[in-house]
Amino acid sequence: MLYLVEHFFSIQGEGRYTGTPSLFFRFGGCNMKCEGFACTEELENGSIIKGCDTIYAVDKEHFLKNWIPIKRVDELLGVLDLYELPKCVDVVITGGEPLIYANDEIFINFLENLHKKSHRITFETNASLAVDFEKYPIYKECIFALSVKLSNSGENEKKRIKPDIINSISTNAKDVFFKFSIDADSISAGLDAEIDEISSYSHKTQIYCMPVAKDKEELEKNTLELVEYCKTKGYNFSDRLHMRIWDKEKGI
Ligand code: SF4
Repeated sequence: MLYLVEHFFSIQGEGRYTGTPSLFFRFGGCNMKCEGFACTEELENGSIIKGCDTIYAVDKEHFLKNWIPIKRVDELLGVLDLYELPKCVDVVITGGEPLIYANDEIFINFLENLHKKSHRITFETNASLAVDFEKYPIYKECIFALSVKLSNSGENEKKRIKPDIINSISTNAKDVFFKFSIDADSISAGLDAEIDEISSYSHKTQIYCMPVAKDKEELEKNTLELVEYCKTKGYNFSDRLHMRIWDKEKGI
């Protein structure tokens, strides 16, 4: 079953297209947990769970009841009529990890329809799940923000770094760029080798680094050191503009 967590029309807050008006579709579920990011969410019963900044779109056990089961493609396409959108607005496919639905018929049909309507489609993915570009050529029309997880995610290396998949997406997709989440402690621990290794699996090596942050306060705390790190390494600094403007608010 395909699950949609939320949709919203906003500006892209991260990576290459920061500031671009975009319609977001956030799909539910992920193949990772990334508890190393130590973001927390309080449940209705008062207990606290730990994960990434979109834990409400990752943790099926606790949040499935809030997700929308999608049974027909028009349920997704109908979302475009709910907003006053600029012509051919960018569509961002995010999660969770949207590629858990990479072979889902409704999902593919949705992407094909978006492409027919001339929307630029950008995936935000951890790049650990294979995409069948031959069976589903629509993926060749999509741009992928490869947010490959670093050791600061707390995930096992073999699970988070898949050289063949990074290479395949980089080779076959319309375009790709890397987007890494980095905190001050990880900078001092030296992430260079990890980033060098991951980017070596792609012939396209445009790299954006953004601060790990669960809220505006943490974003600001992690920003300056990361800016200096990016200057040293020649990476692009990426803000989390939505967080800087709207702090922890969701769905914007
Ligand atoms: S891969 Fe992304 S969405 Fe999944 S748990 Fe990690 S940070 Fe969250």
